[in-house]
Amino acid sequence: MKFAEFYQRSIDTPEQFWRDEATLIDWNTPYTQVLDYSRPPFAKWFVGGQTNLCHNAVDRWCATQGEQAALIAISTETNTEKTYSFNELKTEVERCAAVMLALGVGRGDRVLIYMPMIAEAAFAMLACARIGAIHSVVFGGFAANSLASRIDDAKPVLIVSADAGSRNGKAIPYKHLLDEAIDLSAAKPAKVLLVDRGLAPMALVEGRDVDYATLRAAHLDASVAVTWLESNEPSYILYTSGTTGKPKGVQRDVGGYAVALASSMKYNFCGKAGETFFATSDIGWVVGHSYIVYGPLIAGMATIMYEGLPICPDAGIWWSIVEKYKVTRMFSAPTAIRVLRKQPPEFMRKYDLSSLRALYLAGEPLDETTSQWISDELGVPIIDNYWQTETGWPILSIAKGVEDKPTRLGSPGVAMYGYKVKLLNESTGEECGANEKGVVVIDGPLPPGCMQTVYGDDQRFVDTYWNTFSGQQVYSTFDWGVRDADGYYFILGRTDDVINVAGHRLGTREIEESISSHANVSEVAVVGVEDKLKGQVAIAFAIVKHPEQIATAEGRQALEREIMGVVDHQLGAVARPARVYFVPQLPKTRSGKLLRRSIQAICEGRNPGDLTAIEDPASLQQIKSALLV
Ligand code: AMP
Repeated sequence: MKFAEFYQRSIDTPEQFWRDEATLIDWNTPYTQVLDYSRPPFAKWFVGGQTNLCHNAVDRWCATQGEQAALIAISTETNTEKTYSFNELKTEVERCAAVMLALGVGRGDRVLIYMPMIAEAAFAMLACARIGAIHSVVFGGFAANSLASRIDDAKPVLIVSADAGSRNGKAIPYKHLLDEAIDLSAAKPAKVLLVDRGLAPMALVEGRDVDYATLRAAHLDASVAVTWLESNEPSYILYTSGTTGKPKGVQRDVGGYAVALASSMKYNFCGKAGETFFATSDIGWVVGHSYIVYGPLIAGMATIMYEGLPICPDAGIWWSIVEKYKVTRMFSAPTAIRVLRKQPPEFMRKYDLSSLRALYLAGEPLDETTSQWISDELGVPIIDNYWQTETGWPILSIAKGVEDKPTRLGSPGVAMYGYKVKLLNESTGEECGANEKGVVVIDGPLPPGCMQTVYGDDQRFVDTYWNTFSGQQVYSTFDWGVRDADGYYFILGRTDDVINVAGHRLGTREIEESISSHANVSEVAVVGVEDKLKGQVAIAFAIVKHPEQIATAEGRQALEREIMGVVDHQLGAVARPARVYFVPQLPKTRSGKLLRRSIQAICEGRNPGDLTAIEDPASLQQIKSALLV
């Protein structure tokens, strides 16, 4: 079938289109209405239908392929490797669910999961899904303050964590960060469930902390029935950075998400039951939710959960996994491929990669050099896909499962089924023509699988995403884009103060707030600056309270280190700026708005743009001078 026809059907007759797609999953009770859009922009999909993500990901496959591999947990950090069949996965999930029930977790309760990439993290997510608890996974690289703000917002009854993660053979203790986060937060969880990997010492808090292995042992024969949920009950919250310091809780439903994942596994990722999928992301990010845990399993595929670096023990590790487990579909990020490109190609060529059918890349712009290089090396299609935490599955890509349409270098592809994507002129709000730059927006209703709302704050959902253009209610992606005459889009960066470091989305406001907490910082601006490897890195410009501390090069270096330490401690190393420069003032408009875009332009050697509104033009020169020091 031609993709254009397929797409058009999804736009012209969405209810028929998604009714067909809904047959890809199991329903315990059929839905009575495909779409309820009576309260735009809030869309309800498959109203009245009852289903369950865990049932569709696990139980459903036990009947037909129970002995086949479901979850393959590999850690090159601890040198462990274990395959769980669908039957074994079900058993482990039931044990974990029984433990959660014993700890008082019920339907609709929040469970915060702060875990490294170990099998227990997937068990915990699936266990929540099974009993109707709402999980909120927080990336293991985030530290105390980031964690505390998420605890305060989600108000979990239970936190599931571990003694430590591991990076490059070094344990990264989690427990003290977690304790500190709980101390900082107002919404203290009743219980903390801890997986002890034996990597770092861990003191259990009496009455609150419980050891997973002990409780699991008490529930070895547990049988926990699936809780059937109405399609629109929340399945999870995943926090993402925005333009304010307060992260947004992206809330997702059950039925729409399951259907969207099943469809995307079929049309985008061409996944077949019994084959193996390998997404190299982390469960803390949306790719981990959609394409490590739920998507592949819903499609009956085995999924690989990998803890470790792409170049340890050597740069062949991922390819050895592809060979060993006959991976057919692999999903990664451009940054990782850029890292591999710096390594000798022999590592890749050593392995039999004949099982691999395609490599999917997402999370940040895919540059042509990287795309061409990996395409030449692997000899399989490289499929870029553009989406966001908010949408849960690709907005733009090439759906090879529908039509073998060619990809175009530099473009993630065309609008995916269900998404009414268009470009609007930022100032006039008018629709852009071919090759005209505009803001990428989507007309409501958003298709199944996309966020339902901002957790606990419907108004924030409307105000943040749907009110960018006066007089028209459209969902803004906050990305710039252009579309060519054939409908291929090109993404040109964010319209807001969100930056993308190695495919990880960070809000500059959050980093600024953290740096400002240093006793000697009076003001700071953080911008994202182009970087060959990571796409972007954060660079900070700070004004100090006591200039004597930075009078010497040693003083400046020491303060820079201290500030980086503050960010490491509060937000995690993932948010640490690559450099901190000191300036006497920051460029601002006369109304006091920070000119981050101009600072960024200077850092990238570009023209700082229209500066008629600047308060003091000398401040730009000061930024330039700081960069030279
Ligand atoms: P996240 O919510 O962390 O997945 O980040 C979403 C943002 O990452 C998007 O709004 C884009 O700015 C960027 N992004 C994701 N995928 C792509 C892609 N394939 N090409 C260009 N930018 C992308």
